[in-house]
Amino acid sequence: MNNNIRVRFAPSPTGHLHIGGLRTALFNYLFAKKNNGKLILRIDDTDIARSKKEYEDLIISDIKWFDIKYDEFYRQSERKDIYEKYLKILEEQGYIYECFCTEEELLRSKELSINLKKPYIYNGRCLHLSGVEKENLRKKLADSGLVPSIRLNMMKLGCEHVEFEDMVHGKVVFNVKLLGDFVLKTSDGRFTYNFASIIDDINLGITHIIRGEDHISNTPRQILLCKALGIEHPIFAHISLLYGKDGKLMSKRDFNANLEYYKKEGYLPQAVLNYLAITGNTFLVNDERFSDEIFASFDEMAHYFDIKRTKSSGAIFSEEKLKFVNEKWLQQMNTDDLIYTIKEKFILTDYINISDINSINISSSINNGDTKDSDTDLENNKADLKIKNDKTNIRNRSAEIFDVIDYAQKEYGKERLRCIIDFLKNEYKTVKEIILELDNVFLYKGKYDYFDKEIAELLFENLKETTGNKPEASDFNEILIKNAIQKISKENKKNIKDIYENLRMALTGKINGPSILKIAVLLGKERVLSKLTI
Ligand code: GLU
Repeated sequence: MNNNIRVRFAPSPTGHLHIGGLRTALFNYLFAKKNNGKLILRIDDTDIARSKKEYEDLIISDIKWFDIKYDEFYRQSERKDIYEKYLKILEEQGYIYECFCTEEELLRSKELSINLKKPYIYNGRCLHLSGVEKENLRKKLADSGLVPSIRLNMMKLGCEHVEFEDMVHGKVVFNVKLLGDFVLKTSDGRFTYNFASIIDDINLGITHIIRGEDHISNTPRQILLCKALGIEHPIFAHISLLYGKDGKLMSKRDFNANLEYYKKEGYLPQAVLNYLAITGNTFLVNDERFSDEIFASFDEMAHYFDIKRTKSSGAIFSEEKLKFVNEKWLQQMNTDDLIYTIKEKFILTDYINISDINSINISSSINNGDTKDSDTDLENNKADLKIKNDKTNIRNRSAEIFDVIDYAQKEYGKERLRCIIDFLKNEYKTVKEIILELDNVFLYKGKYDYFDKEIAELLFENLKETTGNKPEASDFNEILIKNAIQKISKENKKNIKDIYENLRMALTGKINGPSILKIAVLLGKERVLSKLTI
């Protein structure tokens, strides 16, 4: 393909960007990247009543969060002169006419069609009005502050069918008679989606329109507009919408259609995109067909991306599969990049706020905010927590951001934090789980209960004795802790399993989890000993 490829992602700022919209943005981005082309972000805000600047800002910040980069930016509300210019061309060539039908009249025709179980098609009433009739109707509309709407004259175009080659669906044919003379500009002076969209596409030199399948019925109208203007239309690719496992179309109202959900659950942006790229799609990698490929980067994803391999049937969205992809991404990600991502994308953006998910622990961490371990008394912690919670209620959310990465780095140093994250990223499936574990285990200054006081004391004595007293002793390693546990078991007739369980409870407050020996080593001797004292 040539390198003048230009695609666009054109969201309407009438709500949040949802997961299906993100998939459309991604497919455009991959297509542009693969072909050395340009991606244009166009805000379709002609519907003034429903468009909101705050939604535009949210959509842009979502696109940035997912690291989808665009080359040019436009807002339809700033392009009215361009639409007027094209409307003028159509007028000069007699392709448009004024329509004086009121909203009530049109509604009545629509109701009639519904009752007759027929598709609604505009009856063309205003096409043949005399000059006098038009003037009378114009006055009537003006009394309500309206002007005639503008429709495309399909008859003048003289086509029976619109046929196009869709990159996903192949040949698609529409019967023009069923389309009716559609509106290009409304009686309140607004340009309609069908008109503004294709005019922008032509005017901005868009070569390929990649969008959701829900727009396929708009395509013949847009192609007819191109025909009226004597301009070749872009190539179309209508990608499948996303369906839930129940086979129902994911609706904007579904909780998991909202991108906020994935950020709050701690899914990596790269993993979400990787998952969306392979959902309802196949990739040919080294002559092998893959539908569950984990890519190393956007570049790699784009390299193997082929829009023609996208399935035309519904793409099924499964959160389990997304979690699997996320787990793989965590494992393959460079630890420094992961630390940066956790901080920048989840913590500083306040998507994962440990005070929301773990208020007890954040309280104790903050209250003991100096970098030295201290023998915090649990009762004090509880009292402090109460004070903090009272404060939290009157503070605004942004003031509550607690940078758990920054805090952990101060506590452990850069090198050891890297080791901790390196360990956690191989044990957990989401960033949220990693943050929670970092906070619960590695930053928690309070004490967890354990089952057997005697075992805890024995562990304390043995670990203290055998490893010397240096706080970050390099001889505090897994083998040494294992040996100490074996010694305790043999000398005191304690069950090995019980000793491990008590150690785990004391260090993590849980009965299950990843290797407790590894956790103990990462915590360091001093912290382990402090958790084993009452
Ligand atoms: N603004 C339309 C939407 O959000 C864009 C459709 C198109 O890509 O043409 O659905």
